[in-house]
Amino acid sequence: MESKKVVIAGAGLVGSLWALYMGKRGHTVNVYERRPDMRKTLIDGGRSINLALSNRGWKALEGVGIGDEVRKVAIPMYRRVMHAANGELSHQPYGKEGEAIYSVSRGGLNELLMTEAEKLEDVNLHFNQKCEGIDFKLNNAHFRSYDTDEKTQVKADLIFGTDGAFSAVRSSFQKSDRFNYSQQYIDHGYKELSIPANADGSHKLEREALHIWPRGNFMLIALPNPDGTFTCTLFLAFEGKHAFEHLNTLTKARQFFETHFSDALDLMPHFDAEWEENPISSLVIIRCFPWSKNGKVALLGDASHAIVPFYGQGMNSGFEDCTVLSEMMDAHSDDDWEQLLKAFETKRKPDADAIADLAMRNFVEMRDLTGNADFLLRKKIENNFAKKHPQKWIPLYSMVTFSHLRYSDALKEGARQDDIMEQVMAMPQIETIWDSVAVEEKMLELLG
Ligand SMILES: Cc1cc2nc3c(=O)[nH]c(=O)nc-3n(C[C@H](O)[C@H](O)[C@H](O)COP(=O)(O)OP(=O)(O)OC[C@H]3O[C@@H](n4cnc5c(N)ncnc54)[C@H](O)[C@@H]3O)c2cc1C
Repeated sequence: MESKKVVIAGAGLVGSLWALYMGKRGHTVNVYERRPDMRKTLIDGGRSINLALSNRGWKALEGVGIGDEVRKVAIPMYRRVMHAANGELSHQPYGKEGEAIYSVSRGGLNELLMTEAEKLEDVNLHFNQKCEGIDFKLNNAHFRSYDTDEKTQVKADLIFGTDGAFSAVRSSFQKSDRFNYSQQYIDHGYKELSIPANADGSHKLEREALHIWPRGNFMLIALPNPDGTFTCTLFLAFEGKHAFEHLNTLTKARQFFETHFSDALDLMPHFDAEWEENPISSLVIIRCFPWSKNGKVALLGDASHAIVPFYGQGMNSGFEDCTVLSEMMDAHSDDDWEQLLKAFETKRKPDADAIADLAMRNFVEMRDLTGNADFLLRKKIENNFAKKHPQKWIPLYSMVTFSHLRYSDALKEGARQDDIMEQVMAMPQIETIWDSVAVEEKMLELLG
């Protein structure tokens, strides 16, 4: 393929990674980011925010040779630790022996990606530059500098919009004909809190685990950071019986935590300040199509498919966009970008829709079912069967998190498994015979 002049709007996780991919292929890449350079300026008030990175994300990082660098700062989380309302703990491994999802710092990973991208001679990053839209006729991207208020128009062969869920590049698509778009805010929002380290720097809760306090319609989760702290996130409805609307004073918020998360509250000495200072943020699902125009402008990551965070797949799926598009570039060596981008969006859209659905479904599972006896029994049966017949049964969570199976195929297979498990769970005395030959045989028969 010919070397192109490439503009990327948004140096977040996906934009910085895509700059690396394009730079390594010999394209001239200019990345424009609305925020200041986070390596020099404190962003988010210095809060430590972390994300779960899993196999799809790792593959994309390894595709540009930086997996090992990221591994140095990632903490494996081998299991879920569930904190019941009475303080009792129960555990669920995420996958097979040795399989883990990894807690990484959002800011740390973003900085690393930017630094790696900038090492390439033909990749340049420009900060405080807000994209204000695209002129599809001239193939210009419009930017405004926050430093000087100067407006610039940058001409490019290829423009990628990686400017997140509220993408300005996508806004230009929205003004064009036959572009489909939907945005759905879910009923829940979130607030971040933290658990500090012990005096010796160790973690106050089990380190290599993702902690969940499932409470039916709401939940608290905590992911470990390398400095001994945990980043906690409360997911709660905006309105309703248990809702942010009722926690409008610190006293009420404290009472709520004392009632539902008293063991966590005991570990949060900065609760009052964090509750007051940290915002309540909303969660949005974005779907749109097409993702490209004229073979010259394309959307990647949250800009084209923002999802709720409950499967830990938003960033992973955005990173997988990079893997898939890069692999397709290898296959389409004839420089026909119009055809390539059309093929990419056609292939990828069903997978983006599938992970959007799966992520909503996992919310119910995390907040509600992880504390439910039937659900835990079903998981035990599945895991038992999967151990004996690994070729016949891969749990849905593993298909999504630990495999590279298309999300749309995982969704289909998950629906088939649901049908089977419904029949298995209806077997008489299933609680006592769950690991019997009868159950195994029934599952084999249902699998056909
Ligand atoms: C609470 C929460 C928890 C999450 N947890 C996980 C998780 O555990 N695992 C996981 O895989 N995913 C997770 N996600 C999802 C993940 O954060 C996103 O999918 C990911 O950040 C998408 O990357 P992106 O680069 O497409 O967009 P973003 O990360 O949003 O980056 C967009 C970039 O574009 C810049 N920008 C925006 N507008 C403009 C403009 N007009 N001009 C120039 N620049 C612009 C922004 O400043 C930003 O730097 C979570 C999301 C939330 C909200």
